[in-house]
Amino acid sequence: MDLYFYNTLTKKKEKFVPIDDKEVRIYSCGPTVYKDATIGNMRTNIFQDVLRRVLKYNGYTLKHAMNITDVGHLVSDGDEGEDKMIKTAREEHKSPMEIAEYYTKLFFQDLELLNIETPEIICKATDHIKEMLEYVEKLVENGYAYETSTAIYFDISKLDKYPILSNLNLEEQKAGARVDVDKEKKSPYDFALWIKAPENHLMKWDSPWGASYPGWHIECSAMGQKYLGEQFDIHTGGIDLIPTHHENEIAQSKGRCGKIPANYWMHGEYLLIDGGKMSKSLGNVYLIKDLCQRGYDPLVYRLFSYSCHYRNKLNFTWEAIEATSKSLERLKNGYQMHLEGKDNVDDEEIKQLEEKFHQAINDDLNMPAAMGIVWEVVRMEKKSPKFAELLAKFDTVLGLKIGEKTKNVQTEIPEEIMQLVEQRKQARESKDWAKSDELRELIKNKGYEIKDTKDGMEIRKVEL
Ligand code: AMP
Ligand code: ZN
Repeated sequence: MDLYFYNTLTKKKEKFVPIDDKEVRIYSCGPTVYKDATIGNMRTNIFQDVLRRVLKYNGYTLKHAMNITDVGHLVSDGDEGEDKMIKTAREEHKSPMEIAEYYTKLFFQDLELLNIETPEIICKATDHIKEMLEYVEKLVENGYAYETSTAIYFDISKLDKYPILSNLNLEEQKAGARVDVDKEKKSPYDFALWIKAPENHLMKWDSPWGASYPGWHIECSAMGQKYLGEQFDIHTGGIDLIPTHHENEIAQSKGRCGKIPANYWMHGEYLLIDGGKMSKSLGNVYLIKDLCQRGYDPLVYRLFSYSCHYRNKLNFTWEAIEATSKSLERLKNGYQMHLEGKDNVDDEEIKQLEEKFHQAINDDLNMPAAMGIVWEVVRMEKKSPKFAELLAKFDTVLGLKIGEKTKNVQTEIPEEIMQLVEQRKQARESKDWAKSDELRELIKNKGYEIKDTKDGMEIRKVEL
């Protein structure tokens, strides 16, 4: 069956034709490991995981590379501000490497909780300084870069076209542009490939231009080329990467070998919180561990992300998560009921349902439409293991572990609450119901709710 993706490069939905007819090569811009990954970051990672799973459903094998940015990503996303790693290191009184290690570990824990497959290749920027340096040297040799007293810049005037991925109008932008910090830059859109390190800079390497460090964009170009070749199939990332990071990756690749590195560019839209931005000042920056603390299986969030196409904004509310949590239970129960069913089902009916699901996922990963078919199967009046088998097949794309019991992955319930929970358990064992109720109330007043279930009890954080 044909597969279609929306390509940011052509602004069209296009039939997917890989370079190699068996193995698809993908590059995803990974995290800058200087802070916790939010549920917003994880939406982008879920989208990328669905892409992987859909490609596999279509019979492809994958060579998927994802980088870990542990140097060079400046606070502005452009050429201004401190390196994000160094800023956190200073604030947390640690070394940049300690910061990188800590947040990388947490990132992979989140991927595991969300049943996101680890890409075949994980590459760390600081392990590829040599490749980046070679890339920049080649750009200088090809006449696409120039040196100033502070950095080596990419010269966008040497390109036949810039930008090509975004709709940026350079002339309009120039008119309203603020004065650039580096007056030696030929154009405000020239960007740093390699930055000369000030005296006390923490992360720096020897180079033909003295002690210095890489810019953010060069790492993806250098690692993409190293692991996937000059041209590969798909490049992914969040929508915010289009106008700067991805535009500049394309520029670098054109300067180096005259080619656009990927044929298809796919971008995931943003997650909103209660209709607005997620921000520290609003106190609404949520992490996967916050879902766990409130007693939700992280896969509830994965299912929630299917309520909207990856190219549309998705609005997060706790009410929606509560409702999705019930949906996940219904989905799992539906699967079990089919598994135990004895009704006869025509193979043709199964085939048609499978085709409808396949069409939905092949239509630019249309997960809301795919979920429509999933629910149609779950709700079938006839109960049959054939439907269960079909749902299990769908779950290779959904990644919801529908055959497994919902995990109770609460973490970090404070010790004080756990002690009260234990006292309540003892009260119940000695049938002191009044004391048990009193303790439940006390626990509730401290922001936690106890639910007695047939498998024991669940503790979840509630809004006070
Ligand atoms: P940041 O940690 O803010 O630099 O984000 C890392 C990447 O995660 C960004 O490049 C985005 O692609 C993605 N991202 C950040 N915030 C969100 C969000 N609210 N929704 C979806 N993706 C996001
Ligand atoms: Zn990147």
